[in-house]
Amino acid sequence: MRSAALHPPCITKQEPSFYNNFRRVGVYPRRRVILKNNVIMAQVEINKNIHLSEHFTLGEMCITSAKTQDGNVPSHVHIENLKRLCGWLEMLRSEWNKRYGEGNDPIIINSGYRSPQVNKAVSGVATSNHVTGCAADIKVAGVEQLIRYATILLDISDESQEDFDELLIEKNRYGAIWLHFAVRPKDNRRKVAFIVA
Ligand SMILES: [Zn+2]
Repeated sequence: MRSAALHPPCITKQEPSFYNNFRRVGVYPRRRVILKNNVIMAQVEINKNIHLSEHFTLGEMCITSAKTQDGNVPSHVHIENLKRLCGWLEMLRSEWNKRYGEGNDPIIINSGYRSPQVNKAVSGVATSNHVTGCAADIKVAGVEQLIRYATILLDISDESQEDFDELLIEKNRYGAIWLHFAVRPKDNRRKVAFIVA
């Protein structure tokens, strides 16, 4: 049996809202593949506007500049992981605005869920937490904001006694910096590091 995490995106009658707009694969054949258990397998698009938490939408958490065929569509399992992550992002947003912000400053996500195709296109490692919807790259205005975000996330972890998987200060060869933050359903490693990507 395949693991749930590897199961491709699907639409069921009970859970239509994360996905919409059937896209036929090419013009012919003009049909969908219907499986025995009544689950319709098809190439789908995400419903970008549906909220995973108060301030974060599925569209924001699946944003990518990579142009791939697969549409970067997460499975239901990946969406559950994104929701867990958004819970942390909500706490970060709230705490940032309490301590430093103007009250309603957004947290901007550069990259959240990445399908294997997208991950490959952006040269991500195959085991990346992005591929399971467990990680987000958070945009920062500069080093100061990055340190404050990281401090808040560490404080949240300490106070809630919940572990995260990765809190990585990342920098690329062009000098861009961002905060990579990941939470897994279990076996979180609390890895804090500086990474040159
Ligand atoms: Zn990342």
